[in-house]
Amino acid sequence: MVNFHVLTLFPEMIIQGLSASVIGRAVDRGVISLEAVNIRDYTVNKHKKVDDYPYGGGAGMLMQAQPVYDAWKAVAEKIDAHKEKGKRTKVIYVTPGGCTFHQAMAKELAKEEDLIFLCGHYEGIDERVLEEIVTDYVSIGDYVLTGGELPAMVMIDAIARMVPGVLGNQDSGETESFSNYLLEYPQYSRPESWMDKKVPEVLLSGDHKKVEEWRLEQSLERTKAIRPELYDKWAKENQDYFVRKAKKACNLKETMVNY
Ligand code: SAM
Repeated sequence: MVNFHVLTLFPEMIIQGLSASVIGRAVDRGVISLEAVNIRDYTVNKHKKVDDYPYGGGAGMLMQAQPVYDAWKAVAEKIDAHKEKGKRTKVIYVTPGGCTFHQAMAKELAKEEDLIFLCGHYEGIDERVLEEIVTDYVSIGDYVLTGGELPAMVMIDAIARMVPGVLGNQDSGETESFSNYLLEYPQYSRPESWMDKKVPEVLLSGDHKKVEEWRLEQSLERTKAIRPELYDKWAKENQDYFVRKAKKACNLKETMVNY
């Protein structure tokens, strides 16, 4: 069970964006929980303003420290009331200036009980409040979006899929692209022939070992062509695969291949 808490100026984006399909059903079933907290509700400004000009000049406006801090404090206090003492809740600021999000990070974060996401808007957020509350700075890629809501949703979707019970078949989270550095193999469903394209023979053979071998070959081929850096990582950790392959090809004993 992970409780997701999102600090945002646009809570409706988060709730609407994550209320459908697999994630929406997981919320309904109580396997995960989701709350979107409106930072604007915490401003002490009588006009409900949450942004101001950056000192030193420059384009755009910055979100101010006070409403962000008070919104975080309200959520953190609520979490602390039900959490074991001493365990700090991660506060993830989604920002193009962070480390790039990836599948292994999603899997790791799925073990947390509570996660707080902080979404920036305009030109970002006053540095002083970030220093005070943020534990992790995470980007979803090398491009700039108008706000942190989509990145937070992307991350929540990927993390939630790794929470036991969210996917119907837990296996599918373990065998997909990136689960072992490799991109996924091609998949086919009915009919057997469509627009003169036939499903590869091996998938109809009923021979599970052969199917597994074919899928691995396909994954390796794709990964090598599209993401060579991931292929290299896999190859480094799976050298025995190449030994076995060479042995099979030459019909040699393993010792001779190593020699
Ligand atoms: N001035 C900032 C910069 O140059 O890094 C960009 C601010 S952006 C227009 C507004 C907000 O969108 C950011 O504070 C962040 O929360 C979010 N954001 C934009 N692109 C993102 C990305 N690639 N990954 C994560 N968050 C992003």
